[in-house]
Amino acid sequence: MSFIETRGNDGIRAKEVEFSDAILNPSSSFGGLYVPKEIPILGSEFITKHLNTSYKELAYDILKAFKIDIDDDTINEALNLYDHFDDKSNPSPVVKIKDDLFVNEQYHGPTRAFKDMALQPFGSILSAIAKRRGEEYLILAATSGDTGPAALNTFKNKEGIKVVCLYPDGGTSDVQRLQMVTENGKNLKVIGINGNFDDAQNALKNLLASQSFKDELQKDGIKLSAANSVNFGRIIFQIVYHFQSYLELLRQNEITLGEKIYINVPSGNFGNVLGAYYAQKMGLPIEKMLVASNENNILTQWLTLGIYDIRGKELKLTKSPAMDILKSSNIERVIYDICGAFRTKELMDSLNEKGYFEHTSAELEVLKQHFSATFSDDSYGLKTIKSFVDNGYLMDPHTATCIKAYDTLKTKNLKTVIYSTAEWTKFSPTVLNALNEDEVNYSDEVALKEIASKLDLEIPTSINELFNSEVLHDKIIDIENLENEIISFL
Ligand SMILES: *Cc1c(COP(=O)(O)O)cnc(C)c1O
Repeated sequence: MSFIETRGNDGIRAKEVEFSDAILNPSSSFGGLYVPKEIPILGSEFITKHLNTSYKELAYDILKAFKIDIDDDTINEALNLYDHFDDKSNPSPVVKIKDDLFVNEQYHGPTRAFKDMALQPFGSILSAIAKRRGEEYLILAATSGDTGPAALNTFKNKEGIKVVCLYPDGGTSDVQRLQMVTENGKNLKVIGINGNFDDAQNALKNLLASQSFKDELQKDGIKLSAANSVNFGRIIFQIVYHFQSYLELLRQNEITLGEKIYINVPSGNFGNVLGAYYAQKMGLPIEKMLVASNENNILTQWLTLGIYDIRGKELKLTKSPAMDILKSSNIERVIYDICGAFRTKELMDSLNEKGYFEHTSAELEVLKQHFSATFSDDSYGLKTIKSFVDNGYLMDPHTATCIKAYDTLKTKNLKTVIYSTAEWTKFSPTVLNALNEDEVNYSDEVALKEIASKLDLEIPTSINELFNSEVLHDKIIDIENLENEIISFL
């Protein structure tokens, strides 16, 4: 199946590309994104068939439905990475926490956050096709905490790929920083930046625009790719686990085939919930996607008022930092699907030039058929963590944002699956604040131990080991030295 561009074609690039091209070179005409030309429809036979198959078989069939130009050996090798999750037959288990409320736990992979669900197999496929083409790619990533560790983990020592990962010094949790600076791989470079996440991201943008940097890459025969969720190679793996949620509810006799469910996702760059949108279009019986945000409530405004307005808005730093975002990239794929390329370009140009866009009421109507949205603040999140722990379920601050959506957005009496995007171990100081109802500034190490002993939990070895591992990347630099630092690494 071919892939086309959300903002139309500029007459220079190919009008349609294959999957492998779309993931190696994810930037498309006019700054748009690649999307599948058609979305395959999978009927109820598909669901029935997969009641008795493994997660890997489910993933395989969904990838095949998109007719991607990747051979079976490469696909299978990628999917075998799910064997390294806690339960290899079930990488994202679905757990009941209330009568009509379930959690899809997406954090059972190597870096304990949901980014592994897609980045693990994606990294394997990207490297395989770069290698086959005899090409060398550079992936530049700026991270606020979860993408960095997951990208480094998946690409370490992979042929054909080099990764440079920037993080804001002091802007991540201890665990997140240690996951990056202790990661071993000759093709990896991790750099701390004096500045915040926005500074790190802007530094990357400037670098990508720098002619001397481009010349240097060309001289070394290195091409640029991307591993953030603008890459459809990540989105395709994020469709699979929404099918898994539905299958699990069927297997647990909680629903009957065809019964609709709510999917409730803590959202930032809109990749996770976009996977659910595609699953719904493919025929999965989803009543609606409930989109949860934190105080950076730009997505709530978009989905309730049909206005996307970042004028004069400042990013707030919250206790759910992976959702701190103003410009959410993947909404563009939904807009394309509903409004077409011409209108998408118009709206995105308006956002870039004027800082806002506004849907027609007809467009908003369609959006509202698929999505409802709300947001909650940190104090609501802390109280939610506390009240659920008192009833026997521990969740992280990102997952907790879903509860407001569950409590207020449902209009029908249907089962709801919320998505748990991080393990408590990644945000333990906040979780301990919630449990102790205090505002003490705990270190990760102290908080991990205290929570583990309070709730009689085990800290995963991969997290415990971090505190005794050698720091391999100790560079903290000023942004003006970034280009030289990267070139000397290359
Ligand atoms: C990345 C991330 C999110 C946001 O996911 P999107 O796909 O960007 O919407 C939410 N929670 C955690 C813990 C994350 O790492």
